[in-house]
Amino acid sequence: MANITLNIEKKGQWEHISYTGPINEDTEVHLMPVVSQLGPNVIFNFRKVEYVNSCGVRAWINFLREAEKGRKVIFEECTPEIVGQINMIPNFKSTAHIRSVYASYACESCDSQKWVLFEEGRNLPESSDSSIETPACEKCNKAMEMEELEDEFFAWLDAAG
Ligand SMILES: [Zn+2]
Repeated sequence: MANITLNIEKKGQWEHISYTGPINEDTEVHLMPVVSQLGPNVIFNFRKVEYVNSCGVRAWINFLREAEKGRKVIFEECTPEIVGQINMIPNFKSTAHIRSVYASYACESCDSQKWVLFEEGRNLPESSDSSIETPACEKCNKAMEMEELEDEFFAWLDAAG
């Protein structure tokens, strides 16, 4: 059985939930018991989510539907895969506010890859057609390319409230 762990930490008015492991058929068992213990402000961190499968998507939507009742929910450090889910399935995000996302970049000359964090108030673009600074490869200094199409990757920005 895959290993899922939740780390819940209260910082001021916010509960920070850090999820480690896959979002899959075992997700609901881990997340649902937590809902009733949550305060009104929740930050969900996706940095350590390994992958998402279709059972996981359903479990996640069920969890979020309960979790967002009377609560403010913020997503942070969404992985490229989570952003893909958010773009495909509006209920994956529902009323949550997205504070930061990772985009995956690759260098065509040396095959280096890295994730770049886009954070609200720092470098997160305003909409999907805003221009984005291209990071330079740390090995060969060439411009790197985002692995997704920029306007598709940031499509959720246009729907965000
Ligand atoms: Zn390179």
